[in-house]
Amino acid sequence: MGLVVQKYGGSSVADAEGIKRVAKRIVEAKKNGHQVVVVVSAMGDTTDELIDLAEQVSPMPTGREFDMLLTAGERISMALLAMAIKNLGHKAQSFTGSQAGVITDSVHNKARIIDVTPGRIRTALDEGNIAIVAGFQGVSQDSKDITTLGRGGSDTTAVALAAALDAEVCEIYTDVDGVFTADPRVVKKAKKIDWISFEDMLELAASGSKVLLHRCVEYARRYNIPIHVRSSFSGLQGTWVSNEPRGDQQVEHAIISGVAHDVSEAKITVVGVPDKPGEAAAIFRTIANAEINIDMVVQNVSAASTGLTDISFTLPKAEGRKAIDALERAKATIGFESLRYDDQIAKISLVGAGMKTNPGVTAGFFEALSDAGVNIELISTSEIRISVVTRADDVNEAVRAVHTAFGLDSDSDEAVVYGGTGR
Ligand code: ASP
Ligand code: MG
Repeated sequence: MGLVVQKYGGSSVADAEGIKRVAKRIVEAKKNGHQVVVVVSAMGDTTDELIDLAEQVSPMPTGREFDMLLTAGERISMALLAMAIKNLGHKAQSFTGSQAGVITDSVHNKARIIDVTPGRIRTALDEGNIAIVAGFQGVSQDSKDITTLGRGGSDTTAVALAAALDAEVCEIYTDVDGVFTADPRVVKKAKKIDWISFEDMLELAASGSKVLLHRCVEYARRYNIPIHVRSSFSGLQGTWVSNEPRGDQQVEHAIISGVAHDVSEAKITVVGVPDKPGEAAAIFRTIANAEINIDMVVQNVSAASTGLTDISFTLPKAEGRKAIDALERAKATIGFESLRYDDQIAKISLVGAGMKTNPGVTAGFFEALSDAGVNIELISTSEIRISVVTRADDVNEAVRAVHTAFGLDSDSDEAVVYGGTGR
């Protein structure tokens, strides 16, 4: 029996009852002969509450003190969990990210892990402890300040520790039974996926699936750590994410893995851009200099007049203001006519490695949307994904229509959502 890393999200430890329930589960794994390292998130909505509090004392809190504050959420749950385990008669010790050896760069609020030196965790395990580690945090190598890894970062902590400790598996416990063929909050007939490749999971995560963060899957693929996503509320097998399925893992959806959607993006259209070399470069250099990541891009002949084009792109809504301001400042140099900002959009994506070799997937996708009366505004594709932008109002219907059209609907039980808010 090897070492397992288990990660419990905020909804699994939302209250004292939840913490006691999780403690029992952890003790079971220990009794089965595993060495157990647990990564825990802040209880329930603690992180959001701390952010609200910070905003009340300062309009745009960021940086060192903000990270100091947010990491407190995970410290509360780690200590309570260790107490609950001890109460069940087992040895447990809790560690902050820094104590656990999670070393990061010094970019506050979205630090990247650059090394993990889990010496104290090893010692704790060797002494028979269950080690509990606060997720979502580390310590900067340069400044020695406490950092956080970005929202949802505990998953990444778990995978990084699993890699550093050479764990058998990284189990991510959440409030749904695994990765589904669509968001079970939207599609009642979504099916649980038994096994999915890192490749498809990365595309789903990039396309808005919230069950696993992109960065966490990326890390797991790099170090080849199998992830088992499962519910902390049921005893069911969840979804395995790995390079290759094991013999007992069913691979049902050979062509399509699932349908993802994302309502967190907005669209900016730069209207009346002179149709000459260097214009797109100037626009996107401006956006890049503002440190904004964009997603889809299209260029059209301008409706306004000849010799001009319109360039539209999508970006996180949260960056909308910053992008508009940056473009306005560069208006004279770039030489466009006006800007349009639209945050009532949704992105719907179909993902599956099988589409590389199966003709007709794109046609089927567009037919399903058209049958549902959904208008398409932008399109982008990769080898294993097709994405469209539609009106936000159409998103649920569009996702359901595509899910049905590709035969992904389950005929048995409805997908269960045990709690939480989707993150
Ligand atoms: N508590 C942090 C958050 O809510 C980290 C996590 O849950 O993974 O984003
Ligand atoms: Mg959380």
